[in-house]
Amino acid sequence: MNKLIEFKNVSKEYKTGALVVKAANQLNFSIDKGELVVILGPSGSGKSTLLNLLGGLDKVSSGEIIIDGENISNFSDKELTQYRANEIGFIFQFYNLIPNLTACENIEIINDVIDKKIDGTEVLTQVGLSEHVNKFPSELSGGEQQRVSIARAISKKPKMLLCDEPTGALDSNTGKLIIELLINLCETENTTVIIVTHNSEFAKVADKVIHIKNGSVESIEIHETPESIDAINW
Ligand code: ADP
Ligand code: MG
Repeated sequence: MNKLIEFKNVSKEYKTGALVVKAANQLNFSIDKGELVVILGPSGSGKSTLLNLLGGLDKVSSGEIIIDGENISNFSDKELTQYRANEIGFIFQFYNLIPNLTACENIEIINDVIDKKIDGTEVLTQVGLSEHVNKFPSELSGGEQQRVSIARAISKKPKMLLCDEPTGALDSNTGKLIIELLINLCETENTTVIIVTHNSEFAKVADKVIHIKNGSVESIEIHETPESIDAINW
């Protein structure tokens, strides 16, 4: 296996007035290329903080985050912008689509900031939305909107997909289809997929589960043979 991500003693403090919250406390773990990883922990345990640090949306207070041998903790704002634009696909609970752009336009808007040129229709077809290319987000169901956001995230062939509670706003059947899509992308494209959730059922399908509690890694579980999507009780 080939290591893609390494967290070395990563901490993040948030100061609000006199109060200091240690949202990440000495995190140590590594993730291989092509792994499907679930970050599991209760609300407020620091999962989103971890994902935002990894995705370059926020900066560490101390420690190092090594991606493909490069320490992104030392990146300038400009380097972080490039890193986010070219290497990372983000998927959020509430999709974050632009309401006055069609599904296709929501994807192709990225062509302004990256070097590759993306064909929105092609990636929407890949996630089963070929008939919805010209629809606006408000004309799509929650599951369809999340598929647009996945199409947008995978369109630039990122090194990793970072998913923050990707099924949190979906019913169980639709959520299952979304997780299935993420598992397939992991297998067919060898994309590293990281799913943050408080739902322990998702852990079953992961290659690796990182348990987070109070900003710290509580334990790391490795599954040599992860279960299939049908094992999940919704
Ligand atoms: P989770 O995603 O597991 O619910 P978060 O990473 O969002 O947890 O939050 C971890 C802790 O850090 C919480 O106590 C939260 O209130 C705090 N926190 C997160 N972001 C900020 C911020 N921008 N400013 C102040 N406190 C924050
Ligand atoms: Mg969160």
